[in-house]
Amino acid sequence: MTNHAFKSGESRDQPCLLPPRIEDYVRPDNPVRAIDGFVRALDLAKLGFRHADRGVEVGQPPYDPADLLKLYLYGYINQIRSSRRLEREACRNLELIWLLKNLRPGYRTIANFRKENWAALRAANRSFVLLVRELGLVGGSVVAIDGSFFHGDASKASIFTRKRLAEQIAKLDQEIEAYGKSLEDNDAAEAKSQTQDHTGGPGAGGGGDGSDIGAKVAALMAKRSRAQADLARLEESGETQLSRTDSDARLLSKSGQTVAGYNVQAAVDDRHKLIVASEVVNDSSDVNQLHAMAKAAKDALETETLQVLADAGYYSSAALKACEDDGIVAYVPPSEGNGWLEKQGRFSLKDFSYDGTADAYRCPAGELLRPMKGRWQNLSGRLEIRYTSRRSICQACGLRARCLTRKASQRTIRRWEHEDVLERHRARMHGADELMRRRSAIVEHPFGTLKCRAGYRHFLVRGFNKVRGEWSLMALCYNFTRVLNIMGFERFVACVAKVLLSRLRASGAATARLQIALQRFLVHITPWFALRRYQRPSLA
Ligand code: SF4
Repeated sequence: MTNHAFKSGESRDQPCLLPPRIEDYVRPDNPVRAIDGFVRALDLAKLGFRHADRGVEVGQPPYDPADLLKLYLYGYINQIRSSRRLEREACRNLELIWLLKNLRPGYRTIANFRKENWAALRAANRSFVLLVRELGLVGGSVVAIDGSFFHGDASKASIFTRKRLAEQIAKLDQEIEAYGKSLEDNDAAEAKSQTQDHTGGPGAGGGGDGSDIGAKVAALMAKRSRAQADLARLEESGETQLSRTDSDARLLSKSGQTVAGYNVQAAVDDRHKLIVASEVVNDSSDVNQLHAMAKAAKDALETETLQVLADAGYYSSAALKACEDDGIVAYVPPSEGNGWLEKQGRFSLKDFSYDGTADAYRCPAGELLRPMKGRWQNLSGRLEIRYTSRRSICQACGLRARCLTRKASQRTIRRWEHEDVLERHRARMHGADELMRRRSAIVEHPFGTLKCRAGYRHFLVRGFNKVRGEWSLMALCYNFTRVLNIMGFERFVACVAKVLLSRLRASGAATARLQIALQRFLVHITPWFALRRYQRPSLA
């Protein structure tokens, strides 16, 4: 029993409402301490952050890139991305006040950091992938690759195709013509009015808005010249689209959805669904991305062989060959073509089996199709060998109606010179149903989390370089949050310290930078409970 109907707060007039130390606002296991520790352990100069290796110089000192990186990591992890919002939060958010030690950078400084350090942000993301590998959080044997469209800082209306520009010019021509006619009518009306003035007839005074129409025509002409220049630029460059706001953003279409922006590619390790490699492209199709992404993942994981899972959009015979050459075993549902032969009830390639020993195809009637001399290049540049049946046998064949067209006298099968790559791929895809089910579970998790939980659906910067830098921040924050969730704060901090220590030992004559990184990390982390159980290593 109390004498209050509701819980009541404390008096605002009392001299000490909040704890006196900023340190007391941040619990020992607050993730913000992990951000602080992680950034302290980074060698920012080696990663390429601007001003990171600056000494004492004359003039106003800049902000430490470590502080601005901490601000961005905190912001992106907590769905605060715009420079103006980050500026506001740095003044009122106690966790940020603690993290930045009450530094309050302006929004221009914050925005410029993200723009200027795009390459360093990519390097920081790669550095975290290296760390999670050393922490044993990646399996390193299976990755899934997928792409997702992200909106750019450009509207659909700001991106033009040749067709759209031609339509715009035609429409402007019509409007200019209509205004030209109005001007002529206006001139005629004025002339008539002057005549009537002279004779004192009706309509005296005339006049009109000829000057207004002239200005409108001039504006339309300027618009037309711009559209014409854009069309010429597009034709000269050989590109299919031109973006006026963000020169690298494109209209991307898939499954009836059109986005003005970028296609983000990610390779995700299957153990804990961590992003191990990523890239930003501006092509709607994923077909050319398989080998580049698989190779990037293999390099990041430093493995001898790697299984890569991707959806049918990535199927490319050239990419499968390139993967095989690099020790990558790719699982991609094969393209079935449009099946027009099957639809007509005729035999397709599937009905012909290749006999490697005889170097011949066997047809459904059991006859052999032998190779012709020479090689033929198809439209996509692949070199092919043609295998043909014997006319005399086909003429007498009972299956002829299902095999040949009315005009053809023999059947020809085209075989790519590296068809054995595709045969091995087809063979392994027969038992890959379970792997393909795993693919969507692995790779769609990060995109779902980034887009739906974190709300990252669009980029705030323009141009490939800056967009790639911002994507690196998103991927780094996704991996960072996920690692903290998997390991917990205490284990994460302890393991990072152990990794730094082992790197220090492995380097033999330890580099001064690594020593400094470890010292910084331990000095700031050890006072909290996490490392108390671990012996603080001697750096002597
Ligand atoms: S038509 Fe010729 S190629 Fe076709 S099944 Fe008959 S024998 Fe074989």
